[in-house]
Amino acid sequence: MKNQEISILNIPFYNTTQADFVEELYEAALNEERLFVVTANPEIVMHARTDKEFEAILRQADYIVPDGIGIIMASEKLGEPLAERVTGYDTMIGLLDKPLRCYFLGAKPEVSQAVEEKVKEKYPQTVVSGVHHGYFDALESEKIAEDIIKKQPDIIFVALGSPAQEKWILSQIANFKKGIFIGVGGSFDVLTDNVKRAPKIWVKLRLEWVYRLLSNPSRWKRFLAIPQFMLVVRKESKRLKKGE
Ligand code: UDP
Repeated sequence: MKNQEISILNIPFYNTTQADFVEELYEAALNEERLFVVTANPEIVMHARTDKEFEAILRQADYIVPDGIGIIMASEKLGEPLAERVTGYDTMIGLLDKPLRCYFLGAKPEVSQAVEEKVKEKYPQTVVSGVHHGYFDALESEKIAEDIIKKQPDIIFVALGSPAQEKWILSQIANFKKGIFIGVGGSFDVLTDNVKRAPKIWVKLRLEWVYRLLSNPSRWKRFLAIPQFMLVVRKESKRLKKGE
């Protein structure tokens, strides 16, 4: 384990701040590094507990950062607090402020087109080396990867949702010489204003997940992972206190 890592239910989280993480990835991009970044929330941690194949994928990541207040709360409960949330969305926005070549893979076709326009308008220093929507089959997937390799972006934002984005990254990354691959979930929808981010006060009160649930009630099942996660964390914390 890197000395900056804190284990939450056996998943090694990188302990850093949002601003430092953006700078670290920027440096890595300038050095033409190849990296796999996972932005993990409680759902991802719970998924890894029941799906060994997915857990193995996470273990190949160079960084797993805490995207989700539940992870921060868990780290506090377990006595080793992580500095702060490091989200896929904020990492993407931070990197878009840098003069880098970025590729955007994922989201619906119309959102994908809008991403290109939005980035060109709002982040003129970013070079959009390409975009592709996230609805493709296995054959197209190979073609898309070949195209990205040719374009040689510094950063590849992958917005296919989890676990598809992590699986896609791991299936392709070995073919690349360089590139920072980062799974960013629904971030393209937020970037293009197709989905609203929770107002700051909800985030401050650590209730962003409630806001997201209320704005999208049909996804309630996914949110069950959060109380389940907190329950497992409580058990783990009791076990640690007993010194087992
Ligand atoms: N998505 C995609 N291809 C698919 C399924 C989903 O590109 O086959 C996109 C979807 O359009 C959305 C993103 O993946 O922009 C993330 O979806 P979701 O909000 O479910 O992911 P989360 O951030 O909650 O993991």
